[in-house]
Amino acid sequence: MNNIKICIIGGGISGITCAKILKENGIDVDVFEQSNQLGGLISCEIHKGNLFHKVGGHVFNTKSKKVNDWFWSYFSKEKHFLSAKRNASIFLDDVFIPYPIELNISRIKDKEISKNIILDLIEISNIEKNKEYLSFDDFLKCNFGNTLYDLYFKPYNKKLWKKDLSTIPLDWLDGKLPMINPKEIIIKNINFHKSDGMPHQYFYYPKNGGSQFIIDRLAKGVNINHSKVFKIKYDDGFFINSFRKKYDYVIYTGNLKKIRNLFDKSLIKSFQIHNELEIINNLRSNGTFNVLCECDKNDYSWIYLPEKKFLAHRIIMTGNFSEKNNDKRLKKNRSTCVVEFSGEYKFDEVKSELSELPFNLSPISFNFCKESYVINDFKSREIIDKIKLNFQLNKIHLCGRFAEWRYYNIDNCIEASMKVCDKILFDKN
Ligand SMILES: Cc1cc2nc3c(=O)[nH]c(=O)nc-3n(C[C@H](O)[C@H](O)[C@H](O)COP(=O)(O)OP(=O)(O)OC[C@H]3O[C@@H](n4cnc5c(N)ncnc54)[C@H](O)[C@@H]3O)c2cc1C
Repeated sequence: MNNIKICIIGGGISGITCAKILKENGIDVDVFEQSNQLGGLISCEIHKGNLFHKVGGHVFNTKSKKVNDWFWSYFSKEKHFLSAKRNASIFLDDVFIPYPIELNISRIKDKEISKNIILDLIEISNIEKNKEYLSFDDFLKCNFGNTLYDLYFKPYNKKLWKKDLSTIPLDWLDGKLPMINPKEIIIKNINFHKSDGMPHQYFYYPKNGGSQFIIDRLAKGVNINHSKVFKIKYDDGFFINSFRKKYDYVIYTGNLKKIRNLFDKSLIKSFQIHNELEIINNLRSNGTFNVLCECDKNDYSWIYLPEKKFLAHRIIMTGNFSEKNNDKRLKKNRSTCVVEFSGEYKFDEVKSELSELPFNLSPISFNFCKESYVINDFKSREIIDKIKLNFQLNKIHLCGRFAEWRYYNIDNCIEASMKVCDKILFDKN
């Protein structure tokens, strides 16, 4: 068991983290990445001199000390990164309301609506909370009231998830939204302090190259094979495509729904999860359509767009994350940003909307990513965990956002990768 060989499928943050940790523990690892560029969702390209986060705009932060220590052992905060304060806003009724909206109710233009939001909050703050929320929808209504739900939470989240919110379970929310109760919301609206709102107030961002810099630096020294894995045979070890090298373990970071056709049918049959694999076939995910634009200079980091009249749900001011993201030839009063649309669009379908949005946007480039947001339903978690365990018992580890079907951020992916590596290293010894 000493000279074990491990094959990692996928060169996104999950795959590269696993590779780095295992390699540093003396293990022979190969990463297979189908694209000619590493990074998966966090990959970036230069378009007309500007950095394009092809999927949204990626910044790094974490609450986990273990992840933090590991990450910063490869980078220098001072030399490689910039630290920025989040400055997010909601664009509603032609005004910019600081994020989160529930703590800035006086900034809502329609005063009748802000009055009704406060009345709702007073009413729901008197209701004894001893129930479990039935769904995401139930959670939002119970905590923010129907007026704020209808004004902001429902339209924004419907755009993003493209799904009835009462069919979305709550577990993906952990740490993603500030969990404060209606009474606190009312008090904080009177004594608002800027640090009240966000779970992550500050973030780090590379001086050069965006998140592509992160992945490329982490991947230094890792053996990468830029091939798509389409078949994994099992014969007392794993064989990839037609390569002859035998691997003792596989770490899979691609889409969970594709595992069934990837591995030897006879091997999967022996796992006795036939029904579960059928069920996960119905899992849904959303893609995103992203448009890199030139825009007027501003000091925002994110702008949320809840209104139905816009198809887009967010503008990410990537040009503000680092000045180096902008082409040197841009005029002094111009910067760049990414406009994000959930779902599949053609450029012609969104072109006219860009001129309706603030900041005088002019498009530079666009990209459609087929798989960006995982969507869970009430049964899926248990089923996925069973599949994961069955694979793990057979030395196949599922790791990452789409392999585990979890609403992971970069830091969650690193944490999940650490767990997989700990397990393999423990088995080895
Ligand atoms: C719009 C958006 C914005 C986000 N913003 C942030 C943010 O600001 N901060 C943050 O921390 N997180 C953010 N996230 C989350 C973050 O992008 C993901 O958690 C993370 O990138 C997932 O990494 P991964 O390695 O698990 O998966 P992926 O990035 O999907 O990587 C999987 C890799 O596997 C490869 N692959 C798949 N199948 C095969 C095969 N058969 N053969 C070979 N290669 C294969 C793919 O090509 C891909 O490169 C955001 C996500 C989205 C969608």
